[in-house]
Amino acid sequence: MSISTQNSTTSVTTETIVEARDAAFAALAGGFDLVDLSETLGPDSVIWPGAPALQVTEAVQHDTDGYHARIVSTFEHAGTHFDAPEHFVPGGESAADISIDRLVLPVAVIDIREKAAADPNAVVEPADIEAFEAAHGPIRPGTAVVINSGWAARNADVLAYTGSETTEDLKFPGFGVPAAQLLVERGVVGLGVDTLGIDPGSEPLFPVHREVTHPAGLWHLENLVNVDQLLAQGAVLAVGVPRIAGGTGFPTRVFAFVPRT
Ligand SMILES: [Zn+2]
Repeated sequence: MSISTQNSTTSVTTETIVEARDAAFAALAGGFDLVDLSETLGPDSVIWPGAPALQVTEAVQHDTDGYHARIVSTFEHAGTHFDAPEHFVPGGESAADISIDRLVLPVAVIDIREKAAADPNAVVEPADIEAFEAAHGPIRPGTAVVINSGWAARNADVLAYTGSETTEDLKFPGFGVPAAQLLVERGVVGLGVDTLGIDPGSEPLFPVHREVTHPAGLWHLENLVNVDQLLAQGAVLAVGVPRIAGGTGFPTRVFAFVPRT
């Protein structure tokens, strides 16, 4: 399969992104609700099979030191987390390199619950994007696109969420390559899923990550929750990825401003 890729950074300009953000914030003027799109990350969270679990060590204690602090060791791609382009592209932008202009932005939510219920490796296809735009208006440059597959409801149950306890035969929905290419062409800045990965479980070579989105400078969010509380269009996403030098990603607080309709 030959996949054409864009230039090494996204072609969307900061002006375009600011324009999209201004329009989205204007729609919040009548009031908004906040939605938390992050799950709590703990040592028992369901993460990528084989990845090291979160480790927590007590460093300083209330009893003996008068205050409390811990040392946390985490895989960068655990729980609700961010993927920076460097995750798959040597020399690509790290989490610390991403400008906040690309972390606060409008979000479009494509509902694929019906097809995901019928096929656990269901993907967003170009036809889904076209149907979405016919119903909810165009996906504008400077937007993030998230899927609602219904998978977040399964995330306390490892087998229901991953489809497998090893990296063999994983099953969860994601984005297909042609749809991801179309969204890069639309000028989308980031993609998000309520599953273990942007590529579906049936794609162990991660073609979207490797060949489409990260080479084009897009970021990802994985293991989102509460995406069903957003609107198809109109909410504003805020992505609080820690600014750790060289970060390939990190567990991230993600929240959204949802206009009251
Ligand atoms: Zn990741």
